[in-house]
Amino acid sequence: MSECIIIGSGIAGIATAIRLRAQGHSVTVLEANSYAGGKLSAFSENGFRFDAGPSLFTMPQFVDELFALSGEDPRAHFEYERLDIGCHYFFEDGTRFESPSNPEAFARLLQERLGEDPKQVLNFLSNSAKLYDITAPVFLENSLHKLSTYLNRKGLKGILNLWRLNMFSTMHAFNARTFRNPKTTQFFDRFATYNGSNPYLAPATLNVIPHLEFGYGTYFPLNGMNSITTSLCMLAERRGVRFQFNTRVDEICIASGKTTGVRSGELFFPADVVVSNMDVYPTYQKLLKSIKMPEKVKNTESSSSALIFYWGIQHKFEELGLHNIFFSADYRREFEQIFKENTIGDDSTVYINITSKHKPDDAPEGCENWFVMVNVPANTGQDWDALIGLARERICDKISRLLKTDIRPLIVSESVLDPRSIESRTSSFRGALYGSSSNHRMAAFFRHANFSPDIRNLYFCGGSVHPGGGIPLCLLSARIVSGLIGK
Ligand code: FAD
Repeated sequence: MSECIIIGSGIAGIATAIRLRAQGHSVTVLEANSYAGGKLSAFSENGFRFDAGPSLFTMPQFVDELFALSGEDPRAHFEYERLDIGCHYFFEDGTRFESPSNPEAFARLLQERLGEDPKQVLNFLSNSAKLYDITAPVFLENSLHKLSTYLNRKGLKGILNLWRLNMFSTMHAFNARTFRNPKTTQFFDRFATYNGSNPYLAPATLNVIPHLEFGYGTYFPLNGMNSITTSLCMLAERRGVRFQFNTRVDEICIASGKTTGVRSGELFFPADVVVSNMDVYPTYQKLLKSIKMPEKVKNTESSSSALIFYWGIQHKFEELGLHNIFFSADYRREFEQIFKENTIGDDSTVYINITSKHKPDDAPEGCENWFVMVNVPANTGQDWDALIGLARERICDKISRLLKTDIRPLIVSESVLDPRSIESRTSSFRGALYGSSSNHRMAAFFRHANFSPDIRNLYFCGGSVHPGGGIPLCLLSARIVSGLIGK
């Protein structure tokens, strides 16, 4: 039994703790905040409850797996429902539709509304599924940086099929060639934002992402997204994982090329194994000062960040659902502004998540809890206060225009999260949501490995390292790390 320290209680840190405990290790999680979950947390104000970060839940089986390997029934502790409608879409020209999660129904809808050939849509989704089958064993479920990943049937199959990943086309170019209607292209281009990337630069390999929604489905945890964190923390505690909050780790201690533990202020925590769930950039910058930061970490392009308004709305909008998208009129311009000009788009695509549609007690009677998010660049010192003021006006104008109702007088409660506060609350480099961007065909290979090449028994999990950001991939990073550590 090894003594394991995990730095950070983000979703990947918690999942790693559960897995290492199930493997028989002694596990302590040290968390800088007074609460668990990092980006996946929640808060309440003025009678409204909000999930602070993620709102789209896919691949719930990776959460279930943690209960199962601990010998517990997932349904007894964590409940969720599959959604029939993926999202409500609004375009500037007045086009609106609700996307069914069933692929055939979705293809019929695009035929009726956008004149798309349903066979082409189904073919695209079936290719998305094939992409997943090829990429998952090599790019998602195993360490990219271990030879053993490639020396088996699935790994070899993945390598032999690399040419099918459409790496040499951008996502947008591929989608524009595939579909007749630019709105369909915009619809599928949006999936690049699921890992904070730019569809005009990211490789068409990212067309694997729609399979998560249309193949595996989208879900709603009955007690809100934050119940992923709370139920897993309770599971971890039941299994004997120790959580120590308000404990910021200042240094990973090393002797003879091996980690010996961590230091927090004056306190030394000895350990045989250290797993950092802190973003990899600040891990090197702040906790491993004697080690040279790898060039690929130093030079990485950050994924996008987000600006979120948590609005209590004193009205119920029947035309809105749990997930809603108000598309920008010029998608290319929006991404140029985010990734090239480092600013917020003049006309940003606005995402609104309303959990009170499924969980009415999240808002007072006659009200709705709106999580209103736009993609913005990572924090490089922009004048955020000025940008946020401007963005708020534009977002209010856009939603009011498309819903034909002035929403400003309906906002009765407001909080804001921006790249600066994401950075300060979770130590994520520049407040990026998903670590590094995938705006390059080799991006997967540039992400840091789940282990340190220089220091024995030091590992990394979470959205900034392999296989990437988002809840499912963070959970997979935990699986990879615990596999590397072993019993
Ligand atoms: P993080 O959540 O980054 O947490 C790291 C933890 O480590 C924090 O608690 C931090 O306090 C702690 N820590 C850091 N440094 C130290 C230290 N030195 N000592 C002690 N503790 C430390 N994903 C989806 O799947 N679906 C979505 O819809 C979605 N939407 C998102 C919307 C927003 C607004 C945000 C912010 C993120 C979203 N994501 C979404 C991404 C997803 O939230 C992240 O990829 C994931 O939660 C990151 O988890 P993590 O394990 O990397 O750790």
